[in-house]
Amino acid sequence: MLKLYDTLSKSLKDIPNKDRLNLYTCGPTVYNYAHIGNLRSYILADLLYRTLKFDGYHPKWVMNITDIDDKTIKGTIAKYGSGATVENLREYTKFYLDAFLQDLGEVNVSKDEITFIRVTDVIPQIQEFIVELINKGYAYKAEDGSTYFSIDKYQKDFGDYGELVGHKFLEGKKVGARVAVDEYEKDNLSDFALWKAHDSATDAGIFWDHPVLGKGRPGWHIECSVINKIGFNGEPTDIHTGGVDLIFPHHTNEIAQSQPFYKPFSKAWCHCEHLLVDGQRMGKRFNNFYTVKDLRGKGFSGLDLRYLYLNAHYRVQQNFTWENLLAAKTARERLNAVSESVPDGAAKALDDDLNFPRALASAAENQDVLDKVFGVLGNGLEQDVPDSITILLGQRQQAKTGKDFSKSDELRKQIEELGYEVMDTAEGQKVKKKLQI
Ligand code: AMP
Ligand code: ZN
Repeated sequence: MLKLYDTLSKSLKDIPNKDRLNLYTCGPTVYNYAHIGNLRSYILADLLYRTLKFDGYHPKWVMNITDIDDKTIKGTIAKYGSGATVENLREYTKFYLDAFLQDLGEVNVSKDEITFIRVTDVIPQIQEFIVELINKGYAYKAEDGSTYFSIDKYQKDFGDYGELVGHKFLEGKKVGARVAVDEYEKDNLSDFALWKAHDSATDAGIFWDHPVLGKGRPGWHIECSVINKIGFNGEPTDIHTGGVDLIFPHHTNEIAQSQPFYKPFSKAWCHCEHLLVDGQRMGKRFNNFYTVKDLRGKGFSGLDLRYLYLNAHYRVQQNFTWENLLAAKTARERLNAVSESVPDGAAKALDDDLNFPRALASAAENQDVLDKVFGVLGNGLEQDVPDSITILLGQRQQAKTGKDFSKSDELRKQIEELGYEVMDTAEGQKVKKKLQI
């Protein structure tokens, strides 16, 4: 059984197997290209997904796409001007969504198995969710026209606000005296916006209308509560993933918004530590980030990056350097392609809180075993087979179909001369890069 470190209980948690396992990943804000720090958290989610599948679970994987927030609005207005509309916003964000999907493909995240839900596709459900929170007493419309979540009310009923951060999160803090903005308009200062009133000065023509909530747009956190509910038909989420920076306020507020409907909101929380550059978190706002395109420009592939990430435990910060990436690339190129089963020692390491470095170490002395671990982790070299080999393989397949065995042997030799070994298996031809040690 998979054991996973759960941020909420702060302990290793058994992940029980059942008919369906609901896996949710907080997705990107699509106002710009993803950086490789973002990709570390999505690769972790993919490694978790693949480990679950390998272990015989049936994960359903859902990811939101944040296409409405301050940053996407700002980007849209910069491009389309002060008359920008929701339609413009959707077009602007679609470009970065497509780029994101392409990046996921390059680092071999199983994107075709993810249900992506764009926030602007579920605005009516978000509005309905907020109205229900108002009806239950957990949300209120303030004088500024925005609708806020009431931490006080939640705390009275549940008493666990902020537990994802730690038991003592609220100790010594006076709820209502944390942030010094908009004091007079809210019940207390830590309340956060569920529905932000439209302001034509900053939002141009980007808004949705609603009879109770008025003209506006969703706040930052509400989308994930709603998309979990939609994606899993109101069942609790089994595992919720994201980077550690999301623990507060984002995930803390997701829990608070959702628990008036069902508790627990998520049974386990899995957070990926940050990728650093020169000791600082990689982030757009620090202007110290690289994209997959930057990597490609220097001759690295997405799989090199993926291999680099396998070498550090996901709960430990990892420092990015080009030297480390080069070392990862060199190590990876000495490894071979895919197989279906994994030896016991390595499988145990995967089940122990996704210990990829240990799985690799336990397999390291045996090339064959390493191939198998790589097969499970989606790190095989299959994608890297050069076109010249693929063409020869196609010709060899034709020769075999036509029972021209001398031609097929001849092609095998040509392929070997190019450094690849061909295996004829029940599923057809497979190639393996020959070791060059
Ligand atoms: P964002 O697009 O900013 O919402 O971030 C998308 C995902 O990337 C979130 O899960 C973040 O927690 C994660 N993330 C952001 N920066 C880093 C980083 N330097 N290392 C790892 N994950 C990150
Ligand atoms: Zn989220």
